[in-house]
Amino acid sequence: MKIKSIKVIDGKNKWSESKDKLIHMVLDLGVYENKPSNKIEGFYERIKEHLPSLQSHRCSEGKPGGFFKRIKEGTWMGHIIEHVALELQTLAGMDTGWGRTRGVKGQKGMYNVVFNYEDKDKGKLAAREAFNVVNDIIDNKNPQIDSIVKKLKPKNLQESIRRILLEETSLQSRVNELINSRGIVVTSTMVGGLDTLSKILNLDLNDVDTQEKLVKNFINFYDLKEESIIIDSLEVRTTVNGEKVIKVNGTVNDDWEDFSSWYVLHICGKMERFFPFKTQPYDHSVFSTRNTKIFIESEFLYEE
Ligand SMILES: [Zn+2]
Repeated sequence: MKIKSIKVIDGKNKWSESKDKLIHMVLDLGVYENKPSNKIEGFYERIKEHLPSLQSHRCSEGKPGGFFKRIKEGTWMGHIIEHVALELQTLAGMDTGWGRTRGVKGQKGMYNVVFNYEDKDKGKLAAREAFNVVNDIIDNKNPQIDSIVKKLKPKNLQESIRRILLEETSLQSRVNELINSRGIVVTSTMVGGLDTLSKILNLDLNDVDTQEKLVKNFINFYDLKEESIIIDSLEVRTTVNGEKVIKVNGTVNDDWEDFSSWYVLHICGKMERFFPFKTQPYDHSVFSTRNTKIFIESEFLYEE
């Protein structure tokens, strides 16, 4: 089997009306023109083992597992390489999923394999690597899927986030809206962690004003309904050292004497596990306050 050519298409083309970023590879199947997948012993089992996520490919069957069914019944290597190229890009976090494989008119064993890409260089690499992976599976060798996917990934998270930001200038404001409507904890889970969230919003988690904003949001969204407490307001004052003291004013439907100090310890404990920076009870000699910029105190009124 040989790759005859790999070309990048960026614009109007004869393969698709809606897709304009496509890799066009011409393949010469050689002996495999007479050996579709069902004629290669163990091919179906091995490709399932090495690329189990191909299960999601519907192919012409129109439902998950459809592509595996085609392999089991017998399909040609060009079509399989097309799906593998798409899947390698998907595993690397790129949004692709469209492909077509058609025989070259009048040339037996020659195929046009066309699939979409996000990044043209990664797309060309995916074409070559998919070719290698399928050859390895034919030869009963172990394709190194993890290291291939690593090569296809954008260099680092920041680079991929920058790419997203270029395409999606509203991302930052959408994330900010989410923080305001659902709270910092839920939002950070949705974007994949506080670390990713900080990168999207360019947050400096060592900055005291940033810490203040995040902590206030955390407290406002922290659900303590079971304790029947209501947060009425948050007051902030700055100490001579530039630290902030956030005072939680609330109402509680209980006359538990130590409620205020329990609340402060409870909420500080929860925040300690969520934020990478420290939050400490104010005026509490037991705790080390080194590197702490945010302190919490509270006052609760008892509802009759
Ligand atoms: Zn298909």
